[in-house]
Amino acid sequence: MSILKPKKISTIIFVYWFLLLYIIAVLVFWFISLNKQNHQMADLLINELKLDDPFYQVKADKILDAERRKIAQYIGEGSTFLALILLGAVFVYRATRRQLRLSQQQQNFMMAVTHELKTPIAVTRLNLETLQKRKLEEAQQQKLIGNTLQEVSRLNSLCNNILLASQLDAGSYKISKNEVNLSEVAERSVAEFVQRFSQRKITAEIAEDVFVVGEELLLQMLVNNLIENATKYGGREGEIRVLLEAQRGKVILVVKDQGTGIADDEKEKVFEKFYRIGNEETRTAKGTGLGLYLCKRIADDHNAKIEVTDNKPKGAIFTVTFKT
Ligand code: ATP
Ligand code: MG
Repeated sequence: MSILKPKKISTIIFVYWFLLLYIIAVLVFWFISLNKQNHQMADLLINELKLDDPFYQVKADKILDAERRKIAQYIGEGSTFLALILLGAVFVYRATRRQLRLSQQQQNFMMAVTHELKTPIAVTRLNLETLQKRKLEEAQQQKLIGNTLQEVSRLNSLCNNILLASQLDAGSYKISKNEVNLSEVAERSVAEFVQRFSQRKITAEIAEDVFVVGEELLLQMLVNNLIENATKYGGREGEIRVLLEAQRGKVILVVKDQGTGIADDEKEKVFEKFYRIGNEETRTAKGTGLGLYLCKRIADDHNAKIEVTDNKPKGAIFTVTFKT
């Protein structure tokens, strides 16, 4: 979809309001002039009556009655017409607003994604070139390789997110229904992040052999995205906790961090596609705003509910509750 420029948007808004007000004004004008005409017509007919006609009163009443019926008809037809126009206008307004918002989000997304894709590639390339050209000490080499692997992992999860989002949107993704060992999925994810972020405190309390029905790949992405967010927005020092438990027909997965948390009025919005808190330029953490949107979609497809609450004393708690 092409991205609308702000100038074009204001033209669209101007044309919309102009047309709407014009149509309503014309409608009111027609109503007034039809009424006037109707009234004049009745006057004319009454004037034509002969005063000495014995049926004068009856005939005059008939004319006035007809006039009143006409007015009622005009009001009826006019208001139906007006109601239809307003209904259409509301419909167009809402559709346009949705479209504009999506276009705005897409613009943010394009900005973020271009940057997000290029940075890891540039870093990886630089690291590899350094390794190729220079004879480095073993420790330095390991550090560079570790750093490169991190960049590649980020690139990998970004590509996974983008591909899955476009498949889901195109409606071409059919999820399979298998018994998935969610404990193993969570363990795997935690182990990966512990390795990637060795300096962070990541702890887990994962009950063994907790099963849910669904698709392993998607569930893995769900857990990965939640833990990745905790590493990104959980502050440098804060602990990250991952919990998984099964209780009375429910499976509960929790990811807690001690970062800035999410304000109440943002708690629903963070699950929208491309939504990121704050301003694109001022944000320091990298991202595209697809992670939580996918988590929500995946949760929906697995008969699960995802929600975010406040951690104490600070931070966010993401809870996914599967009904089994
Ligand atoms: P992506 O996951 O696509 O790389 P992202 O992390 O910015 O990008 P989401 O995972 O969808 O996108 O998160 C949306 C926004 O919600 C984030 O930009 C961030 O502002 C906020 N957010 C998500 N998780 C947390 C968290 N644990 N603590 C505080 N804010 C969060
Ligand atoms: Mg994310």
